[in-house]
Amino acid sequence: GRPGCECHSCFTGPNCSVRKPNCNADADSGDPVFMEPYWKRHAAAGAVVFSGWHRLSYITTDGLFHSIELERQIRRLHNAVGNAVVDDKYIVYGTGSIQLINALVYALSPEGNASSPPASVVATAPYYNTYKMQTDMFDGREYRWDGTTAAWANNGSRNSTGDVIEFVTSPNNPDTAFRRPVLDGSMAVVDHAYYWPHLTHIPAPADDDVMLFTTSKLSGHAGSRFGWALIRDKNVAKRAGDYVGQSTMGVSRDTQLRIMKIIKVILANLHSKDDIFAFGYDVMSSRWSRLNAVVSRSTRISLQKMQPEYCTYFSKIREPSPAYAWVKCEWEEDVDCQETLLAAGIISRSGTNYEGGSQYARLSLLKPQDDFDMLLERMADIVEPIEEHS
Ligand code: PMP
Repeated sequence: GRPGCECHSCFTGPNCSVRKPNCNADADSGDPVFMEPYWKRHAAAGAVVFSGWHRLSYITTDGLFHSIELERQIRRLHNAVGNAVVDDKYIVYGTGSIQLINALVYALSPEGNASSPPASVVATAPYYNTYKMQTDMFDGREYRWDGTTAAWANNGSRNSTGDVIEFVTSPNNPDTAFRRPVLDGSMAVVDHAYYWPHLTHIPAPADDDVMLFTTSKLSGHAGSRFGWALIRDKNVAKRAGDYVGQSTMGVSRDTQLRIMKIIKVILANLHSKDDIFAFGYDVMSSRWSRLNAVVSRSTRISLQKMQPEYCTYFSKIREPSPAYAWVKCEWEEDVDCQETLLAAGIISRSGTNYEGGSQYARLSLLKPQDDFDMLLERMADIVEPIEEHS
């Protein structure tokens, strides 16, 4: 139970200790609440308090929307973790990395030139579908969503004569595979939301021309809405920054202050007994190994295959600790995996959201422990009776 808190949706009673019958395990959203216990342990150090008269202005004392001190902390963090080369990059903030998706599509598209063809925005399936939703929603004359890379790569010919902006997520959402751009000559936006040592091994610092990061998956502060882009080219960085300036006059200064505090706490504890990545890795690797142990008893459901890998941050070989399980239902060819799981009391996200096919579904492993425990129980229930009938 959780005294003093709202009960988790599957529990009731004075101490939240009474289990509601027939409650679904919710593994749908990527809400990263698994980090809550860490920040409870650092409640005072991670707190930010400021007066009502503070930070009224749109701008900092440097005359900017953008805190230079926060930028310094972000650079220190990447250098300490070794997950990205920052020294030759500009940094642009966004209200969540979601805001930066369209900012970068805008920044990489032909500049105010009515005669050039629109840029094509593409990704490889299965892909994080916000790239398509954002591109369709803010559809400009200079660019359009142009499908998955398969249609482009197969016949070697291009669907249009314009530029190609390729979104690449690495590790990938939903299937957690390491990815590289697949189209020659495309301008890649490499989304490294999950490239932190609690969610993947770190083989080497990433050094792509345009990279995205977010505090949502780094520290769990999804509700603060903070993301950043690392951009090699000065003009692309300027245009992405202009977009955010026009859209929201920069990122909330309250948020920038909070994130600066959070990053300082993370830095102060790196490689100590309360390292945030060691904490997150322990939670996530244990979830993965428990889920794997249950699912491996089934011949009708499988998860993505993952191996232990060497991690430069921990200086050792580590077990997999992915943010998501990418489930394949193998009853028959046309099985709808999301519906099958739902019938067994598990709320997942259908593979169709990622153009990955209805035979697949994504389970989030990032949620609070209660949700994960429910998921594991429901999974055990469906694995057992199925095997009896087979
Ligand atoms: N990129 C990827 C690959 C994601 O999975 C998510 C969130 N699920 C985002 C970006 C958006 O994150 P943010 O909260 O920073 O907007």
